Amino acid sequence: MTQIDTSADFVRGMVADDNKSGRFDGRVITRFPPEPNGYLHIGHAKSICLNFGIAEDFGGVCHLRFDDTNPTREEVEFVESIQEDVRWLGWDWGDNLFYASDYFEQIYQYAIRLIEKGSAYVCDLNADEIREYRGTLTEPGKPSPYRDRSVAENMDLFQRMRQGEFDEGSHVLRAKIDMASPNLNMRDPVLYRILKESHHRTGDEWPIYPTYDFAHGQSDSIERITHSVCTLEFENHRPLYDWLQDELEIYHSQQIEFARLNLTYTVMSKRRLMELVESGYVNGWDDPRMPTISGLRRRGYTPEAVREFCDRIGVARRDNTVEISQLEHALRDDLNKRAPRVMAVLDPLKVVIENYPEGQSEEITSVNNPEDNTMGERSIPFSRVVYIEKDDFREEPPPKFYRLSPGREVRLKDAYYITCNEVVKDEATGEIIELRCTYDPETKGGTSADGRKVRGTSHWVSAEHAVEAEVRVYDHLFMKEDPDDLPEGGDFKDNLNPESLKVLKGCKLEQSLKDARPGERFQFLRTGYFSVDPDSTPRNPVFNRTVALRDTWGRMDRARGQG
Ligand code: ATP
Ligand code: MG
Repeated sequence: MTQIDTSADFVRGMVADDNKSGRFDGRVITRFPPEPNGYLHIGHAKSICLNFGIAEDFGGVCHLRFDDTNPTREEVEFVESIQEDVRWLGWDWGDNLFYASDYFEQIYQYAIRLIEKGSAYVCDLNADEIREYRGTLTEPGKPSPYRDRSVAENMDLFQRMRQGEFDEGSHVLRAKIDMASPNLNMRDPVLYRILKESHHRTGDEWPIYPTYDFAHGQSDSIERITHSVCTLEFENHRPLYDWLQDELEIYHSQQIEFARLNLTYTVMSKRRLMELVESGYVNGWDDPRMPTISGLRRRGYTPEAVREFCDRIGVARRDNTVEISQLEHALRDDLNKRAPRVMAVLDPLKVVIENYPEGQSEEITSVNNPEDNTMGERSIPFSRVVYIEKDDFREEPPPKFYRLSPGREVRLKDAYYITCNEVVKDEATGEIIELRCTYDPETKGGTSADGRKVRGTSHWVSAEHAVEAEVRVYDHLFMKEDPDDLPEGGDFKDNLNPESLKVLKGCKLEQSLKDARPGERFQFLRTGYFSVDPDSTPRNPVFNRTVALRDTWGRMDRARGQG
């Protein structure tokens, strides 16, 4: 048996304890139970990695179960995207794909059992009345006037609910527990309600649907889940979870709660994400600014980076908020190793090398990733006209600006030293449109035989060979760390960042990128990591900025600040 690091997190610690005591005969079965009413997000990824990770570590299995007990708003599109996302993250549920809706008949039979035992009753109060009778944290509840119906009457009414005889809201089935319990969830919680809605799998077969509390634990029991890991908001539901399985005398799973993931500059509620999508604040669930798995994928995240992030943040017992920079950090660490480095000029300035023969070009050799020699080399064409970044030139250089300026010599990466002799401006606007330079043929490869040093190195792209592309540069979707940081009466959408997407057209990429396919990732030297968007075509290449190279941008920003 492999040694398990039980100190890794408290949930694994509890599983290890149960294995030691033989409580579940050493079996470990977990589940990830999404409700198919939206796309998965990075918070779900944490839950997925925890549940599938525990199963993997302990030689158990993890089920994928659609918690599809609420017919409103559940759609096939979501069922499919959820499976795609779990698989993309690298997890495998094998044959263990389940739907809570497959248990509707069994759960109905459980309800009958509770009625027979006198532990559930049909109540005719409406939703407002139920709330009123329930009392508050400081006041006990009042019993419903229907609480003492006979078993026979309850059975008759419940079966008629199931036959579709009654209108929505007219009756519910409630557990008969304790209206004075300090835990509000134990004050005769609703188990079934009437909903005359079609279900994406069971159609119109059922006019009644079990509530989350009644469906979830019983589904766990049916699947013989050993450890039912969920987020903290269900801590107060655990006594009910236990009560129902005990009362029904069925297989008993252990519910364990952990802190949900919150991220700065991010909203994670599906209701809010849905609102952003449906009201057009973003371009769909997979908009690269969204915290959805599909958004991260489109942005260029790797599954490895997402999993590494989930490992690094660990599993806490109390709520906290993780800095989004930690997610970006995990991504940079991964892409740094695997993304080939190429040259791309996002904001081009034309440079004419006057002493380089017209019509001539040559191949420059460049390594693909200095972190990994196995990634090899490539050749890049060099010619008389190249582009550099506008930011890499300053007509009047501020102190500590070591890049190109009139009269100064710099290196074009892996190519030659060039010196700027003349600045050409647009006569009408005064904007710099071209630099006239000369190169030193004795500096091929970017080093000088005479030992002459230059302080600045610019990336560049040969004009004649450049691939022209659109580049989408993303920033945080929200301007505030906490999108709920708002004046009275404000709406979280007021904190949306109007500059979260900048579209750069006419970017110049090195020739090797002409065959890049959607999903491929690169480091554009000095500007960041980029991935090819699914919108990209050979005629109209589109790249997403996956994440900036923070340090380089920091330096550029500082230089800009001094300019
Ligand atoms: P909603 O926001 O619509 O209430 P949800 O985010 O809880 O729903 P579910 O589909 O019920 O969505 O979630 C599936 C599983 O993922 C649940 O076990 C839930 O606890 C877990 N989960 C959801 N959000 C997070 C999060 N931010 N961090 C960790 N786990 C999460
Ligand atoms: Mg939920």
